[in-house]
Amino acid sequence: MENTPVMRKWLNDFGLSHPLVIGGPCSAETEEQVMKIANELKDTDVTVYRAGIWKPRTRPGNFEGVGAIGLKWLQRVKKETGLLTATEVANKDHVKLALEHDIDILWIGARSTVSPFIVQEIADALEGTDKIVLVKNPVNPDVALWLGGVERLYSANIKNLGLIHRGFSTYEKTKYRNNPEWQIAVEVQNRFPDLPLICDPSHITGKRDMIFDACQMALDLNFDGLMIESHWDPDNAWSDAAQQVTPSRLVQIMKDLKIRKPTTNEENYQTELQNLRAQIDIADQTILDTLGKRMKVAEAIGELKKANNVAVLQNKRWNEILGKMVLEGEDRGLSEEFVLKLFKAIHQESINHQEQIVKY
Ligand code: PEP
Ligand code: MN
Repeated sequence: MENTPVMRKWLNDFGLSHPLVIGGPCSAETEEQVMKIANELKDTDVTVYRAGIWKPRTRPGNFEGVGAIGLKWLQRVKKETGLLTATEVANKDHVKLALEHDIDILWIGARSTVSPFIVQEIADALEGTDKIVLVKNPVNPDVALWLGGVERLYSANIKNLGLIHRGFSTYEKTKYRNNPEWQIAVEVQNRFPDLPLICDPSHITGKRDMIFDACQMALDLNFDGLMIESHWDPDNAWSDAAQQVTPSRLVQIMKDLKIRKPTTNEENYQTELQNLRAQIDIADQTILDTLGKRMKVAEAIGELKKANNVAVLQNKRWNEILGKMVLEGEDRGLSEEFVLKLFKAIHQESINHQEQIVKY
């Protein structure tokens, strides 16, 4: 798929002097709730009002959305506040109803992007539309699946496209609800620089206190917009209560964020530098996470050696590792000297950990 200026045009047409902000509740609950939040968001940086009408729930028995009636409430939002409207569609019936109710932006949720069958059904139902369609990343960290979703829509002659990064599901518990894996978003952004990229810090963090930092990270990585779940009474929301913020908190977040606009050379430089530094931060974090995991494995080996009364240092194995790493390092442009120094330091740390275990 070629990059085309058409993709960015819809965002440029908004003529915003700040990142695009999509705000609104996780779910439309009642007409009053929808209108109350919309009225609180209308004279803010928010351009687009989001509300889930059909809610994909991981386990049955939770609130599954109000259904088509909510589309009428969104029409009322648009009429009375001038906000554009957005909702999730997950099959051809949703698409038909959303188009009939003139919803401006349709997004494909993370649980749909994982399924090429569903994405294709949605793409066929939307064929040729000039509505804006945003593709959330799939729940699993698979770049090809995400890009494939975009390609299916593009092939159905849908040109106003964009991406939403909402983080990735992991078996391991992390401080995030969905691990951001920022490097994946950066990779997709490099692949399709003309596709507007929006961050959803609400589903990434799952906690309202962590939303600001995720927003700042996204802006430092040159994201084009933010989708932030907001509710007038977050704690009593019918879905995703822990991650929603009040409209006034949303306004404060936008005020406090450092937004860098690439206008002058100096600002271009600062923006680019900030972007590269943010990428370095991600890489450093990944290095530390990986080293932490490696030490845990080394400790397990220490336990095993202790149980079997085997010496901590196994020279033959270590020399094999070093030789292999020097060669693999060369492929990545790393000097032999550096790779040797690095792995000797790592090895020494492993031996220290193992000795602690064997000693007691
Ligand atoms: C949502 O935006 O409310 C939603 C269900 O998100 P996701 O598809 O990212 O889980
Ligand atoms: Mn939600």
